[in-house]
Amino acid sequence: MSARKTIAVIGAGLGGLSVAGFLQRAGFPVTVYEQAPAFSRIGAGIILSANAMKAFRRLGIEQDLIETGIKPESYVSRAWDSGETMYEIKFDAASEARYGGPYMNIHRGDLHGVLERVVTPGTIAFDHRLVGLDESREAVRLSFENGVRIEADIVIGADGIRSRVRENLLGFEPPRFVGAVAQRAIFPTERLRGSGIADCTKWWGPDRHILPYFMTSRRDEIYVIGVIPAAQWDSEASSLPCSRDEMLESFAGFHVDLRRVLEVADDVSLWPIYDRERNDRWSGGRIVLLGDACHPMRPFMAAGGAMAVEDGVILSRCLAACDDHGEAFRCYEATRIPRVTEVQRISIENSWMRGPTETDWFYCYDPCLAPLAAPD
Ligand SMILES: Cc1cc2nc3c(=O)[nH]c(=O)nc-3n(C[C@H](O)[C@H](O)[C@H](O)COP(=O)(O)OP(=O)(O)OC[C@H]3O[C@@H](n4cnc5c(N)ncnc54)[C@H](O)[C@@H]3O)c2cc1C
Repeated sequence: MSARKTIAVIGAGLGGLSVAGFLQRAGFPVTVYEQAPAFSRIGAGIILSANAMKAFRRLGIEQDLIETGIKPESYVSRAWDSGETMYEIKFDAASEARYGGPYMNIHRGDLHGVLERVVTPGTIAFDHRLVGLDESREAVRLSFENGVRIEADIVIGADGIRSRVRENLLGFEPPRFVGAVAQRAIFPTERLRGSGIADCTKWWGPDRHILPYFMTSRRDEIYVIGVIPAAQWDSEASSLPCSRDEMLESFAGFHVDLRRVLEVADDVSLWPIYDRERNDRWSGGRIVLLGDACHPMRPFMAAGGAMAVEDGVILSRCLAACDDHGEAFRCYEATRIPRVTEVQRISIENSWMRGPTETDWFYCYDPCLAPLAAPD
């Protein structure tokens, strides 16, 4: 796009900050509007695969992330009762060379602390909750809860699963409860009193799974996320307190290697899991969506965040390459939808790395170099 248009990104999550970082490097004037007053150290971990790490390398934060989080030695899938190894993938120099980047686990708060640096200082307007959008032929007018009103040539909705921007494009539709909840815990490793655990293990039960992993290279903090069936979620709250005993009960009968981790678990909370049915309308007029705003997925492949990052890279490349924003949006959708659809499918199936898995198509992908599809 020759005359650089002003771009408003709604939401400073993984997708919003990634797209803003790449757009600024391509010369676009960008502001990110975030409803939260500041970033906080939300108690959860996140897995970042090599495909996302390649994007972070271009944004100059790969090394900082590696120093803050942990590159696990391996990922292991084990049977809930016998403990048998169903699949194992080693992460070493050879795998990094093959995938073109590392696999890593990190605390979400630490990730955000680093990610904030990919945009120039002053880019993020905190405490700006979008409440209204009004599109005309020339621009989009945005209004925020704090009374601020602005205009932008292009609006990118990176505002997550309950996206206000999506609502403007597609109408209000509540996300879909997937019939499962997550029990999550975070606690210091010293509670294990020296009995070691592997860096990252997914335990597979018949109707539930659970994944303990370290979040720092010092291996001093453990994150556990266990997913169990649930008929409904009745609360308005985004999470509820839970207890170690409830977690132990949910995973009764699981292998002793897991049980001894749960016996010292602390800071346990319960979270509903939502997604949305696939919808391939990601843009309209001057407005475009990315990440969870257009394709929220079940977290069973640990890939939703990586998809938001990839979206950001591809969208910025399309905007830089096309003369017209409509053409750029079509190029972005044509490039992204086939890959995202496959990741959504695997996430619903919950089959990723359960047994022998072809991982190259996912981890080797480099969103900065992947060919862009012709606009449909
Ligand atoms: C339990 C669980 C575990 C997961 N584990 C992994 C994992 O290991 N690896 C992985 O890759 N993915 C994982 N995911 C998925 C990942 O968290 C999401 O896909 C990812 O966060 C999506 O990024 P995003 O930028 O699209 O949206 P979000 O991260 O949701 O960011 C949206 C931002 O928009 C802001 N916002 C919302 N509304 C407004 C508004 N009206 N005005 C202004 N700002 C607004 C929000 O405050 C937020 O900062 C997991 C998800 C869950 C639920």
